[in-house]
Amino acid sequence: MVARVILEVALRKELDYLIPPEWEGRVEPGTRVEVPLGRRKVCGLVTEILPHSPLPRLKPILRVVAGVSLVTPSVLRLARWIAEYYCCPAELALRTVLPEAVRRPDADWRRRLHVRLLPAHGLLPRLSARQKEVLHVVEEHRSLPLAELLQLTGAGLSTVRRLEDKGLVEIVSQIEERDPWGREQILPSAPLPLNEAQARAVQAITSGLDTLAAGGMTVEGSSAEARAEEGVSAPVFLLHGVTGSGKTEVYLQAIAAALERGRGAIVLVPEISLTPQTVERFKARFCTGPLRTLVAVLHSHLSAGERHDEWHKIRQGRARIVIGARSAIFAPVQNLGLIIVDEEHEPTYKQEETPRYHARDVAVVRGRLEPAVVVLGSATPSLESYHNARHGKYTLLTLPERADARKMPRVRVVDMRAALRSQRGVPIFSPQLREAILQRLERREQVILFLNRRGYASALQCSKCGYVAHCPHCSVAFTYHRAGQRLLCHICGESQDAPATCPNPRCGDPAIRYAGVGTQRVEEALVRAFPRARVQRMDSDILQRKDEYRRILAEFRAGRIDILVGTQMIAKGLHFPNVTLVGIVHADLTLHQPDFRAAERTFQLLTQVAGRAGRGDVEGEVIVQSFTPYHPAIQYARRHDFEGFYEQEIEFRAQLRYPPFTRVALLTLQGRNEEKVQFVAAHVRRELETRIPDREETVLAGPAPAPLERARSYYRYHLMIRTRRMLRLVRQLAPWFDQLQLPEDVRLTVDVDPVNLL
Ligand code: ADP
Ligand code: ZN
Repeated sequence: MVARVILEVALRKELDYLIPPEWEGRVEPGTRVEVPLGRRKVCGLVTEILPHSPLPRLKPILRVVAGVSLVTPSVLRLARWIAEYYCCPAELALRTVLPEAVRRPDADWRRRLHVRLLPAHGLLPRLSARQKEVLHVVEEHRSLPLAELLQLTGAGLSTVRRLEDKGLVEIVSQIEERDPWGREQILPSAPLPLNEAQARAVQAITSGLDTLAAGGMTVEGSSAEARAEEGVSAPVFLLHGVTGSGKTEVYLQAIAAALERGRGAIVLVPEISLTPQTVERFKARFCTGPLRTLVAVLHSHLSAGERHDEWHKIRQGRARIVIGARSAIFAPVQNLGLIIVDEEHEPTYKQEETPRYHARDVAVVRGRLEPAVVVLGSATPSLESYHNARHGKYTLLTLPERADARKMPRVRVVDMRAALRSQRGVPIFSPQLREAILQRLERREQVILFLNRRGYASALQCSKCGYVAHCPHCSVAFTYHRAGQRLLCHICGESQDAPATCPNPRCGDPAIRYAGVGTQRVEEALVRAFPRARVQRMDSDILQRKDEYRRILAEFRAGRIDILVGTQMIAKGLHFPNVTLVGIVHADLTLHQPDFRAAERTFQLLTQVAGRAGRGDVEGEVIVQSFTPYHPAIQYARRHDFEGFYEQEIEFRAQLRYPPFTRVALLTLQGRNEEKVQFVAAHVRRELETRIPDREETVLAGPAPAPLERARSYYRYHLMIRTRRMLRLVRQLAPWFDQLQLPEDVRLTVDVDPVNLL
């Protein structure tokens, strides 16, 4: 027998090796093996077992590295799909589905010495006072870590050894799981009685689970790929529920239905929403009762050891539910039946480095391969997903009202142009917002102010000559940070002292000013305008320390903060009953970005932020300050009208042939020498023209300087391909990408279905 192996080194292809007779039966797809490569020994993963190879004289596999195969066959197929669709080397796709912490040969469980009480036989031997004391403590605990025992009693190791000699206790090495949530006390929660819309959603998902079972589709079925290509697919649901409509309860009961049918579940949430609060809601439901199971948590802040343990708990089938950020989509859940992607519209599901996969799209593909039911949930679905639902590819489930029968908040849009006309300069707070904040402070209610820009001011600008301080390495203006009087580049991190006078040699004016507003400046203005209010800022500058996020939210919850100012960090998923006012300081910030999704992003952000208001007994209010108050993204958000926004935005996408009517591949060329980059870009364009046969289906644009023309001293040029059939396109281009020879100092990256167009 022959094994086809992806090696964990850059090779871009799979190689065949003989399976020695003694390993036969132990090597299967997903097994990690060591094989010879030239004179080296390297590790790789078996992707396929073949009866024979077309090639003569194969070398044998040297060693099976891990006992259990760490990648399930369907995840392996997923890795191959990622390599093909996102145009990346197979070994990189493989690294992505199998984290470093698990792959490392020395990765293992943590063992600790424990002292265990042995059953007593006959007479108690004579003991010293010290020994008696120690034995007493062991009797109380029956078993406890050695280190803890020594600390509790102040005794030395020799005392414990003496007790061991006398046959009273034993010292054993025991696996101890690293559980980052171990110390939390979690109270079990019971399912809530569902409202009608929720019940309908759970019902639909449950019947979806039943069709999986009834279809006789075996989980290990080797024909999953064939099924996927035949279009025999598992159902995908789009759960469109307004903020506060109780989507989480639907997820929980859908998971229960999956567990009842012997299947596991993966829940993806954006990293930022993966708070203790969120995790607890899932743990609380499944920590007792007949469906009791461990809930594994995967996110980027886990230590390597914690990741190893979580991963193996899943692989061993002890954790049937996985909740995590983007990469949790690769978790080796046994008998996977349900994949939930919460906030499916979130751009953070896209990985911004190779492989540039989108976890929501990968989820849909994995659902098809397993097969498993997929549920995409959002208050503001992406246009792509909603389009799919409209055209019958997904099944639309709607939760039109808030679960607790509370009203949606009232949204007022304030035209800042009026403020501009009536005063000197633009105030940070319009009179309306100022008045509304005062009212809340008097009533002892809480306020959230949102601004999508950290720092103090967006730019340092001379009011006399117009000079703006720019980063020397990037084509962006510096952001002024008050603390330490620094100018900071948000692209490359370059930092300089802020000048006291205008640096323009022909000017030198001392009245250099700060244009544009950042969160720091809002904070300062608040303190000045409302001296008695307790104000707290929350953005990535504040959150340098790991626990700060938790601490601030706890303080806010406890009512020790009146006004919370922050970036999108506070826009998502938080639930504070006493927040009755949300102010959006500058709604236009996202609107004018050079991105065809700018309006969609703005609509989503406004809706999400507005959803933070009025989650308690008092009706919420939202004040949106804008210089383009009649923009559709703002007006539809004001009326909570997703459908209306969709209808008008989809029209624009159709006319311009943008997604969801096409798929985009964005090619970026970058290098330090601008002329060279330009030259190579023009060459790539000509090559693409000859290689893309079907120009009916495809639109080719560029090369043009990227909106972010220069970053970290690299010049950047874009080429954009839009096509109706991406998989066919990447298959056509793959051989050419593979052998493409670029000058050493020019780099090409390919981003399929890009989210960031800068
Ligand atoms: P979403 O995720 O859709 O924004 P949540 O799941 O956070 O909404 O639910 C909002 C609130 O409504 C939560 O406090 C939740 O406990 C409550 N809730 C959800 N479903 C029900 C229900 N069927 N009956 C009563 N309260 C519910
Ligand atoms: Zn820079």
